[in-house]
Amino acid sequence: MRNTQATALLFELASPGRRAARFPAADTPDVPLDQLIPAEFLAAEPPPLPEVTEPDVIRHYVNLSTLNMSVDTHFYPLGSCTMKYNPKRHERLAGLAGLGDLHPYTAEADAQGMLAMMWDMQQMLAEIAGLPAVSLQPAAGAQGELAALLVASAYFRDRGEKRTRVLFPASAHGTNPASAALAGFDCIQLKGTSDGLVDLDELKSHLDDRTAVFMITNPNTLGLFEPQIHTISEMLHEVGGLVYIDGANMNAILGVTRPGDFGGDMMHYNVHKTFTGPHGAGGPGAGPIAVRDFLADYLPAPMVEREETDSGPVYRLTTPTKTIGRVRSHFGNVGILLRGYFYLKTLGPDGLREVSEQAVLNANYLKSLLADVLPVPHGKHCMHEFVASAKSVQGKTGISAMDLAKRLLDYGFHAPTVYFPLVVPEAMMMEPTETESRATLDAFSEVIHKIVLEDPDFVHQAPHSTPVSRPDEVQAARNPILHWEPAST
Ligand SMILES: *Cc1c(COP(=O)(O)O)cnc(C)c1O
Repeated sequence: MRNTQATALLFELASPGRRAARFPAADTPDVPLDQLIPAEFLAAEPPPLPEVTEPDVIRHYVNLSTLNMSVDTHFYPLGSCTMKYNPKRHERLAGLAGLGDLHPYTAEADAQGMLAMMWDMQQMLAEIAGLPAVSLQPAAGAQGELAALLVASAYFRDRGEKRTRVLFPASAHGTNPASAALAGFDCIQLKGTSDGLVDLDELKSHLDDRTAVFMITNPNTLGLFEPQIHTISEMLHEVGGLVYIDGANMNAILGVTRPGDFGGDMMHYNVHKTFTGPHGAGGPGAGPIAVRDFLADYLPAPMVEREETDSGPVYRLTTPTKTIGRVRSHFGNVGILLRGYFYLKTLGPDGLREVSEQAVLNANYLKSLLADVLPVPHGKHCMHEFVASAKSVQGKTGISAMDLAKRLLDYGFHAPTVYFPLVVPEAMMMEPTETESRATLDAFSEVIHKIVLEDPDFVHQAPHSTPVSRPDEVQAARNPILHWEPAST
């Protein structure tokens, strides 16, 4: 099962006496270690580090890197994740010495360039959201949700209102209820309509003076735009509640419509998704939040403010008067914010709109290519993504969504998101993004059509070409091996 050549651990490649670096003799007096560091802090033995040469290390990590799939190497249609191509130009710009090497404790007066860009970023995100106040602090979408819910909580507390409930549709991203629970709210999950949209009667039956926030993703997790979003917002506002727009995936609506215009009071962005921060494997991320005027005083600190002076604009970090405090060190995950900043500046308003038009076109094109084998139960057209069902394929051949996902890896395609959202049986959620060509989408569709005709037993065993085939998921969850001992040589 394991291709040992490519996946040997660095420890297994080690041999005593090998080394990658040799240091010149010290030109300072030789002092015994225990005269520099108290003996109690010294280890009895040196740490068991692998002894390897520089070529050993380089080959090890370069080979490991080729075992993974990434947007740089493969089509990666992972739904609800926006794995779009990350322009290398923005990597280079964010890594310029003046930016990449700037220390977080640099005095404000010496960091005016960086602060100017971050201020500008706040302005652009406010414009795209249609919401006037932006905090760049949160370091992920989920942290943005939590920060915004704490803002809502502080706002209601300030008004002397005791609102304890956060509502969300059944198709919501798992982070929504998780954030609400962390922020101290009770979570109420609402059943949707058979079309996969918000059921207004169901919503109405749960609205009262306990309602704090309704969290909604629009376009929703099925890739459908909620046509009743205006009515939904009005219903919330009538009972004194707030509307939270989960803006993790803004790819369908950039420059087309704005959360603030369709009734949202707060939202978060995923800069690492929509604005091409390279992500995957858990980070890094940036999840700025945008809110209405009346919530601005509660935003996490610090914010970047611009003041016009006789000698030109001056930028400084400020603390909103009723801030919920910090949610991260310094003023956010600057490396990712910068990549997003350059992306926004490169495209401009017209370019951003084109991104969304192309993303929606690509998703609908792929959806129609696959319609005969992987039909989409909800909605006629989709936005930036769609959720197809492998239920009929499974009925006819026994090949499940998981089998298809695993077999795709053998053909050099990353799998779509599977078994989410739960409202679609044998769900395969696909988001091709705007950065893919028609040829790639055609090739992907051809492979899917090919797999469903393959020997089901062979497909059940897939993937066949990866270093590790299908792990025993139950065993892995029940008996995880979390510790590794080097084999004695
Ligand atoms: C990705 C995503 C999130 C969570 O974002 P993280 O940066 O992974 O915390 C929240 N909501 C939706 C709809 C998402 O797609």
